[in-house]
Amino acid sequence: MAILVQKFGGSSVANPERIKAVAQRVVEAKQRGYQVVVVVSALGDTTDELIELARQISARPPKREMDMLLSTGEQVSIALLAMAIHELGHAVISLTGAQGGIITDATHTRAKILQVNTERVERELAEGKIVIVAGFQGVTPGYDITTLGRGGSDTTAVALAAALKAQECEIYTDVDGVYTADPRVVPSARKLADVSYGEMLEMASLGAGVLQPRAVEFASMYKVPIHVRSSFNYENGTMVREERVLEKDMIVVGVAHDVNVAKVGILDVPDRPGVAARIFSALAAEAINVDMIVQTTKEQQTTDMLFSVSRDDLPQAKEIVEAVAKELGAKGVIVNDNVAKVSIVGAGMVSNPGVAARMFEALAKANINIQVISTSEIKVSCLVRAEDALKAVRVVHEAFGLDQTDQATKAAM
Ligand code: ADP
Ligand code: ASP
Ligand code: MG
Repeated sequence: MAILVQKFGGSSVANPERIKAVAQRVVEAKQRGYQVVVVVSALGDTTDELIELARQISARPPKREMDMLLSTGEQVSIALLAMAIHELGHAVISLTGAQGGIITDATHTRAKILQVNTERVERELAEGKIVIVAGFQGVTPGYDITTLGRGGSDTTAVALAAALKAQECEIYTDVDGVYTADPRVVPSARKLADVSYGEMLEMASLGAGVLQPRAVEFASMYKVPIHVRSSFNYENGTMVREERVLEKDMIVVGVAHDVNVAKVGILDVPDRPGVAARIFSALAAEAINVDMIVQTTKEQQTTDMLFSVSRDDLPQAKEIVEAVAKELGAKGVIVNDNVAKVSIVGAGMVSNPGVAARMFEALAKANINIQVISTSEIKVSCLVRAEDALKAVRVVHEAFGLDQTDQATKAAM
């Protein structure tokens, strides 16, 4: 019997009515002949509320205790969903991440899944039950509870789908699929029927919060097809899979933006081998991800090094960089969290010159200053002032004709 993994995000289970609607949907999948594994997030804004609660107690709570706190959100939703399915007369069991075999490393608040032990889930499925697993949480080999980073339920779902060799992983959310830009920012954004793993990974990493990047990485590694769709209707959503089948000729598939970024600069660092290695290995040692990096060379044997980090990491990054700057004899450190990153993504870019220029022109026309640029074969990112971010997304989206038809996009290029 084929296995189907269905994941429901917070807004899909925000209140008892929604939970009952989700229960109905799960039962329908079971009635279509699937063995169903359900992954569920915390109700509505529970995770945000728990974070706020912790802040009222401590400015920097121990990460292990944060995980202990945040994991409670998903424990509420699995129990309630199990009750709702039981009410519909179906055999069901809820499991925590640990019971569901989600084994992670000990990097609290952003743990990585090391292994998924599927015995318990498989045993319950074999007994004919619908199995509900708490999203976002796991356990270390030493039995400490961990969480997988914001949006981590997506990763729980895809990891389970991979380990169980599920036919597909459905990600139910509050939008109809993956759009050419966040539909809340660009109302004319278009739903993509298909997107490749590579493009989706870039979109997600660059701020398209509809999927956690790690989930896309797992999907790509284990070839799990993901269907992103709405839990509020029965429309087909977006298929994330190996190759885009439709719209093959789209050069840019989407515009992503991320306001959770900050800029760090180290000024007048002595220009000698090993300097970059020293700075970035100190950050890596604390699991801080660095994204855009620019280094300028000056006449006087010194250099300025600029890079971006997640805004959540800024206080820690600042501390680390200040210490390293002192050790290296740099003139100073500047930080700025009034920035945002706007990016275009598309596999077609590599063979089409002028794509980056078109983005820069659109920003220039809108009088938006670009502070840092980074590019790869499949994306171009610009750091802009935070207050310019949404306007930047809209003008770039328009410049690539993304709200028009596929044909129009091709003609526009
Ligand atoms: P869930 O709680 O279901 O996991 P999320 O809030 O994590 O939902 O993700 C869905 C949200 O992602 C949407 O409401 C939308 O605002 C946002 N989003 C950002 N970029 C995109 C995009 N390109 N396509 C669709 N949604 C996007
Ligand atoms: N509840 C967690 C969060 O809000 C995990 C998730 O929703 O995927 O980030
Ligand atoms: Mg999410």
